[in-house]
Amino acid sequence: MFDWLIVGAGFAGSVLAERLARVRNERVLIVDRRPHIGGNAYDRYDDAGLLIHQYGPHIFHTNAQQIVDHLSQFTEWRPYEHRVLADVEGRLLPIPINRTTVNALYGLDLQSDEAVEAFFRERAEPAAEVRTSEDVVLGRVGRDLYEKFFRSYTRKQWGLEPSQLDKSVTARVPVRTNTDDRYFNDAFQCMPKHGYTRMFERMLDHPNIKIMLQTDFADVRRGISYKRMIFTGPIDEFFDHRFGRLPYRSLRFEHKTLDVPQFQPVAVVNYPGAEPYTRITEYKHLTGQEHAKTSITYEHPSAEGDPYYPIPKPENAELFKRYEKLAQATPNVWFVGRLATYRYYNMDQVVGQALSTFQKIDAALGTGTKRARAIMQSA
Ligand code: FAD
Ligand code: UDP
Repeated sequence: MFDWLIVGAGFAGSVLAERLARVRNERVLIVDRRPHIGGNAYDRYDDAGLLIHQYGPHIFHTNAQQIVDHLSQFTEWRPYEHRVLADVEGRLLPIPINRTTVNALYGLDLQSDEAVEAFFRERAEPAAEVRTSEDVVLGRVGRDLYEKFFRSYTRKQWGLEPSQLDKSVTARVPVRTNTDDRYFNDAFQCMPKHGYTRMFERMLDHPNIKIMLQTDFADVRRGISYKRMIFTGPIDEFFDHRFGRLPYRSLRFEHKTLDVPQFQPVAVVNYPGAEPYTRITEYKHLTGQEHAKTSITYEHPSAEGDPYYPIPKPENAELFKRYEKLAQATPNVWFVGRLATYRYYNMDQVVGQALSTFQKIDAALGTGTKRARAIMQSA
């Protein structure tokens, strides 16, 4: 008899497994249908011996010291600041759009924040109410930059017009008037020194945690006895799609190894043009690995395949709310993570959500004798 069945060995499931096992001294079984732990953050050495991310580039960034401290129990860090270039009509220009982008694209020599702000202001097409991903970009930088950097990239990535997507999607990418060309604003930007998978291995290395891979929840649902459950898969799947399918966007990852030491100048190059892929990642920039060859990944967006992204738009939020109500009425099951809470969360946000779920569980269940024993053992 397990105290907990956890479905999914990604950030949500693994962070909770560790807390329940270590802090509450409870017995945990994690199942994942994939042949590995780590969820979408899984990385591995490919045939050439290069460390790659199986499911596309994962860069850790956060402003929350508590989350850094928590993960630092399981990994050291390699400082890394993410920089991205966009291939606009054959020229590589920095994205987020910043002063350097504007000067290079239009042959200008703007020297101050004020000059770039004025440039944007003259072109911006503000909406009365900013609702969609189109409103966000048009309202800030105007139509030409919107068309060049955002419109077709977004159509490719989501299979939707930016005007059909919630404002939160393109608002993820800042617009700057200075020359800061880092992709993220966060105070902490690092990569786990020995990779994500190693970090997950250390997190899950506890005698109270048992892991079953290549095991679908449906296969063990009735065959295994457990008291409570954490579900981190798609919430609509848990309820047998009772209200219809929640849309998730998928990707096909095309991995390649090339017989050259370097393919592109930065880790990620975005392709906002007619190419069938959205971006190419070269991992050596992220990992610092030295090798005579290099490995890269093309991301091809797709409607079919594993669910990678919830699709932020009002109808989907409404449908999710119906499933959320069912979830709230399901005793002894907690729904956590990007797929189960249908939120376009980064890794740090999922870790934060898992840690706060743990606090709620711990408060609701109280300090039983098992926990007291764990405290005595660690004293
Ligand atoms: P997942 O990692 O999806 O884990 C859920 C697990 O549950 C999966 O392993 C799945 O196999 C398993 N599962 C589901 N259903 C079942 C079932 N029925 N039975 C058994 N197992 C099941 N975040 C960042 O912070 N920085 C980045 O740079 C970044 N880049 C990203 C790039 C891409 C291409 C993608 C897709 C995401 C990126 N993210 C990034 C987001 C990050 O991947 C997620 O925030 C995080 O991995 C979510 O963790 P999770 O545990 O909620 O879900
Ligand atoms: N985006 C874009 N062009 C870019 C980069 C981003 O149009 O060069 C839009 C696109 O809609 C994308 C969203 O902004 O899905 C968020 O970008 P981010 O890089 O955060 O996406 P993720 O890494 O989560 O795939």
